[in-house]
Amino acid sequence: MKYKAWFGCISGCNERYPLNEVIYRCKSCGGLLEVVHDMDQLKVRSGAAWMRLFDDRYQRTDYPFGSSVWGKKELVCPAVSDENVVSMYEGGSNLFWAERLGQELGVNDLWIKQCGNNPTGSFKDLGMTVLVSMVKQMISDGQDIRGIACASTGDTSASLAAYCAYTGIPSVVFLPKDKVSVAQLIQPIANGALTISLDTDFDGCMEIVQEVAKEEHIYLANSMNSLRIEGQKTISMEIVQQFDWEAPDVVVIPGGNLGNVSALGKGFLMMEELGIINKRPRIVCAQAERANPLYKSYLTGFEEFESIQAQQTIASAIQIGNPVSINRAIRVLKAFDGIVEQATEDEIANAAARADLTGLYNCPHTGVALAALFKLIQRGDISRDDRVIVISTANGLKFTDFKVKYHEERLEDVSFKHAQKPVELPPDYDAVAKVLDQRL
Ligand SMILES: *Cc1c(COP(=O)(O)O)cnc(C)c1O
Ligand SMILES: [Zn+2]
Repeated sequence: MKYKAWFGCISGCNERYPLNEVIYRCKSCGGLLEVVHDMDQLKVRSGAAWMRLFDDRYQRTDYPFGSSVWGKKELVCPAVSDENVVSMYEGGSNLFWAERLGQELGVNDLWIKQCGNNPTGSFKDLGMTVLVSMVKQMISDGQDIRGIACASTGDTSASLAAYCAYTGIPSVVFLPKDKVSVAQLIQPIANGALTISLDTDFDGCMEIVQEVAKEEHIYLANSMNSLRIEGQKTISMEIVQQFDWEAPDVVVIPGGNLGNVSALGKGFLMMEELGIINKRPRIVCAQAERANPLYKSYLTGFEEFESIQAQQTIASAIQIGNPVSINRAIRVLKAFDGIVEQATEDEIANAAARADLTGLYNCPHTGVALAALFKLIQRGDISRDDRVIVISTANGLKFTDFKVKYHEERLEDVSFKHAQKPVELPPDYDAVAKVLDQRL
């Protein structure tokens, strides 16, 4: 294999571990690991040649390179052989010009990256394909791994369950009882994952799964596992590719465990180093006010950080008080002139509903990003001609319960500025015509 990558320690203690070792933290200092690539080898090919190669592969049928993650395999995970790649053609999600919403807000160049249009309905697929592929490689190399487990606020478990089912590796998912949407709960069940509902929150599930992974020859799929970040970082590569290799001015992304914002930054930095882009966008990370430890740290200029007990929020996938990727995220935000903003339940629900009225169908986490966007525009941190990308993290169809409750006005602490009601009528033409006259 020409291209090389390994786990390095993010505390900078120079330890290195192979990607096929079962390891989540540095053995010498306990720090988190990150995948490090042999950049000198990658730089042998010019930026222009990388762009050509990626464009040649993009969304074609040559397995596995038509996947937008594996189309960038050399930059993502060269340690997996092509036969062991477990791909459902993730990535390549649409990036569209939100013209009407932008006009309402006073910005001309607003785009939504619909990561919810992935195989299981969220961006988690981009990282999970890499992790499950690596495990398949390890199993085929003879390692004793009984299955893969994760704790989840919903979308990670759906993704793990699907990729494992696709390739025939057992999966175990731990979910906080009554804290995920109906769709998120039924997805792993339908895919045949051993689904365990624990009477605790996400952070509580996390403690249990870490113990399980220590004792049971079970591989841990949580985002402290930096293989997932390698796949997720293709979000930035894909955005740039979709703009003919031009970086945007601002990217807004919701954050909970903060793996995704870290991945976003890592993707841009790698492209910069390879000569694919020559400017960095500003990165905005948006948090729910009820789960805002990063926002609080931002207010101290990132001098201080304290984990918190996250409160219940409609943005359930980011209800996390002790984010595992906090240090990675702070590093990224410092390098990208970052801003952290927060949104109340009222702001989240109404931002999502307002955007839906311009043709979107937003998950509540995208609502967090949109609410932050509205504030930044109002404050003048984003100007009229900035090219702004909002990362939509999941498909709204996974959050039907949230949508129904909003439009039936049954959410707490929300003012329902945009609730819509169906009109019930007798099957009578005149009655219908009268309503049409009133409404159109
Ligand atoms: C996981 C998830 C997030 C948060 O991503 P982090 O990497 O935990 O910050 C946001 N939105 C959705 C829909 C998610 O599933
Ligand atoms: Zn270390």
